[in-house]
Amino acid sequence: ISTEERNQVAKNYVEEVFATIQKRNPNENEFHQAVKEIFDSLVPVFAKHPKYMESGILERISEPERLITFRVPWVDDNGKVHVNRGFRVQFNSAIGPYKGGLRFHPSVNASIIKFLGFEQIFKNSLTGQPIGGGKGGSDFDPKGKSDNEIMRFTQSFMTELCKYIGPDADVPAGDIGVGAREVGYMFGQYKRIRGGYEAGVLTGKGLGYGGSLGRTEATGYGTVYFVQEMLKDAGSSFEGSTVVVSGSGNVSTYAIEKAQSLGAKVVACSDSGGYVYDPNGINLATVKQIKEVERKRISEYVNVHPHAEYHEGCTGIWSIPCDIALPCATQNEINEESAKLLVANGVKAVGEGANMPSTLEAIEVFLTNSVLFGPAKAANAGGVAVSALEMAQNSMRLAWTFEEVDAKLHDIMVNIYKSAVNAANEYGYPGNLVVGANIAGFLKVADAMMAQGVI
Ligand code: GLU
Repeated sequence: ISTEERNQVAKNYVEEVFATIQKRNPNENEFHQAVKEIFDSLVPVFAKHPKYMESGILERISEPERLITFRVPWVDDNGKVHVNRGFRVQFNSAIGPYKGGLRFHPSVNASIIKFLGFEQIFKNSLTGQPIGGGKGGSDFDPKGKSDNEIMRFTQSFMTELCKYIGPDADVPAGDIGVGAREVGYMFGQYKRIRGGYEAGVLTGKGLGYGGSLGRTEATGYGTVYFVQEMLKDAGSSFEGSTVVVSGSGNVSTYAIEKAQSLGAKVVACSDSGGYVYDPNGINLATVKQIKEVERKRISEYVNVHPHAEYHEGCTGIWSIPCDIALPCATQNEINEESAKLLVANGVKAVGEGANMPSTLEAIEVFLTNSVLFGPAKAANAGGVAVSALEMAQNSMRLAWTFEEVDAKLHDIMVNIYKSAVNAANEYGYPGNLVVGANIAGFLKVADAMMAQGVI
């Protein structure tokens, strides 16, 4: 049959499976969005290699191996009882134990956890490390909670979660609302219940008890390393560029740090309340003090630096002219309108530090306007990649230096970039790293699934 016919057969297959997914997972818009992006990218793969269609890979890969939901009861400082819902999706274990973070945020529901878990399969595959895809979290809101409330909640969360995880089974880490403090409390609780020191059960641990140097910086640094590769190929660099970074959490902080060290001027960052514009360049020490030490709102920044501006709301940050935009806050923070504004103001490159920060329409705007676009599952894979390095160190009962970890992270990001570029070229979408990353991530997992039978 002709190439055209093969393409049509592949397209029909993808559309058919997508329709069943929509039907089986009603109202899960974020999950549908993540699935649609991957599926559309894979049409050329199925056209070229019908074996994946014949073995029902899409039907299988889009249904989690397991989705666990559980009650998380806890008592606040006033003695009042609260109940939150806990989740863990164990999406795919074809190439390694389930791996992915935990998110504590009021927006968490099955759709959010499934979109994150689905993305994680391909991201983790791209890192080249032996890790499967998983994700979890709770609709618990850490905002305004005391340290003791955080501890009691995370302990209760782990009391249930510990039944399903383990160093060779499923290895959670942090995500939004879960950092070193929460991982520490969870590790302590896991250890009490298990009665053994299984260091590799969680990553993002403190350095004194099995954590890896460089893990804290990894996602933000990795995103900048990835964008650096895109810029290099286009004959450009961070040096002298103006950068906007959304967010002010772990990813954002270290993206700002690395971009600044490469000679960029970062003029804005944000939190869920609003954004700060500092024409002199964001003072990172102030951001770290406000967000990491005091755990306060980014609006405090203007009290320390009165020449800077604070604006309420999250989308306004994308109206600031910049050469490079690094969305590092949350999903769907850049819509079509914001993407058009960025393009109109001359943006050259976008690197996604957050998971799925651009809507499908926004991605389309970037690609059609030849903006260098580093999709999340490639550009932010540095975090989970160093988590895999943390697992490796825990297994060896050894620890690498910061320089060793950072060098490995850099190599991994360069390799991810190359894999995405090569896959995009091979399948007829030169320069399209969305398609390239999706195909490269997919093939490794799909081949492992094929080799392991109908699983
Ligand atoms: N939450 C991060 C991500 O989205 C890191 C996960 C991990 O280290 O397991 O990839």
